[in-house]
Amino acid sequence: MKKLTALLLIAISSHTINAQSFIQAYKNRADAVSQTDIITNLQEFASWGVKKTGTQANTDALNWLKNKYLSYGYTANQMVEDTFPYSNTTSKNLIITKQGTVYPNKYVIICGHFDTIAGSGVNDNGSGTSIILEAARILRTIPTEYSIKFIHFSGEEQGLLGSYHYVDNVVYQGSNRVLDIKMVFNLDQVGGVMGNNNNTIYCDQDMGGLPGNNAASATVTQELRNCTALYSPLQTAVDPAEDTDYIPFEEKGEIITGFFERIRSNFPHTVNDTFANTDPVYIYNIGKAAVGALQHFAVASTQTLGTLEPISKSTLESIKIYPNPAKDVINIEFPDSDVQNFSFEITDFEGRSLLKTTNKERVNISALTNGAYVGIIKRGDQNVIRKVIIAK
Ligand SMILES: [Zn+2]
Repeated sequence: MKKLTALLLIAISSHTINAQSFIQAYKNRADAVSQTDIITNLQEFASWGVKKTGTQANTDALNWLKNKYLSYGYTANQMVEDTFPYSNTTSKNLIITKQGTVYPNKYVIICGHFDTIAGSGVNDNGSGTSIILEAARILRTIPTEYSIKFIHFSGEEQGLLGSYHYVDNVVYQGSNRVLDIKMVFNLDQVGGVMGNNNNTIYCDQDMGGLPGNNAASATVTQELRNCTALYSPLQTAVDPAEDTDYIPFEEKGEIITGFFERIRSNFPHTVNDTFANTDPVYIYNIGKAAVGALQHFAVASTQTLGTLEPISKSTLESIKIYPNPAKDVINIEFPDSDVQNFSFEITDFEGRSLLKTTNKERVNISALTNGAYVGIIKRGDQNVIRKVIIAK
């Protein structure tokens, strides 16, 4: 309750009461983020292995991203690759543009890197990548006043090579700024570690670099905090912006903000930055905050538009599986009273089935050893996926 009071005071004292009011249409679209999609995106991201800049796996991941956008209904015309040199080879950033209705030549950029180093990089930065994909899926048909660029950078781990190349060659031609950017919203390492109390997200504020854009960053970072409170269950804290892909933009005077995990994982940049070592529920909640905030920054339509609206993929999305981590027994609780004709299956990450039950709301899992697994619930033609941890 304290938090809500504080938020209302902020809203009343600002001149943007309207823009920071709760908007039901924004909430509906934030709620369209799918836990199943997040988990699927993370596992597919992991499947390409170590996506080091300049390697075949890096190119494979780029092509996977392009196919994801095509599957959402984006066209090849909306996608541009930005190639930059690296070592003896090249790598590519991927940029997808959705045109705005009122300010088609002014851009809100949501971005994050997809290259990894040493490991599959499910947290750093499959987490941000999976959220950008969900935001693009959900908002494709939603009118926004400002154009949006969804950007997947490569070369981040070698020193922000991809984002520097983009700023120096696409945003700028020589000393001319040829791309009018409203603001830059970056997501990096938002995966957390399951088992931690991941209830808070860092909002990155520009407190250094050029002094002239710091106040504007403080404003959008506060707006990001407000949107997180309005459209997700997470709390926020502020940390100084550093060490990721918004920095090349900051150095040119652009307005930046971003998300970064609050309880920091030690796994990034190691072989242990895996799906097993992330918290997909945290990523799901950050996804809701990101979709809420992106609509605010790009000024999305506040109308509900009937068939154009994203609908929650499945009523099973709000299913509960608990306790998680579990010891001997897992309970499955449906959002409705229809508990007939469902199955529950536990597989390992290679898809090998380890346990399967039918119509059981209480499942004995004592035969499984400690570790992270994939739980799949099927009912009719609906399918929902959850990460399950067993710890005895
Ligand atoms: Zn990163």
